[in-house]
Amino acid sequence: MSIEQLLGINKFAVDDDEAHIILKKDICAACMDKPCTFACPAGLYTEKDGEISFDYAGCLECGTCRTVCPKEGAISWQYPRGGFGINFRYG
Ligand code: SF4
Repeated sequence: MSIEQLLGINKFAVDDDEAHIILKKDICAACMDKPCTFACPAGLYTEKDGEISFDYAGCLECGTCRTVCPKEGAISWQYPRGGFGINFRYG
């Protein structure tokens, strides 16, 4: 089974009222490398015309983006509130 197929069988309870990851896009705009765009295993960060686009729905809660981000204060990251977030179907 491919990675995309495995990701597709996960279930997500998206918290529409409280994002668990918030970006400060003005700080992101000053980042030259934007490692989040290629490090996120779910492909949730994309860049267009130098601006980061991000959607926390589909987040695997791996923490990679906050680890690779070189700009202090650009990413505010916390686990989703209880009852929300990813439900891995096969561990
Ligand atoms: Fe992507 Fe992992 Fe960051 Fe979620 S925690 S946005 S899956 S890198």
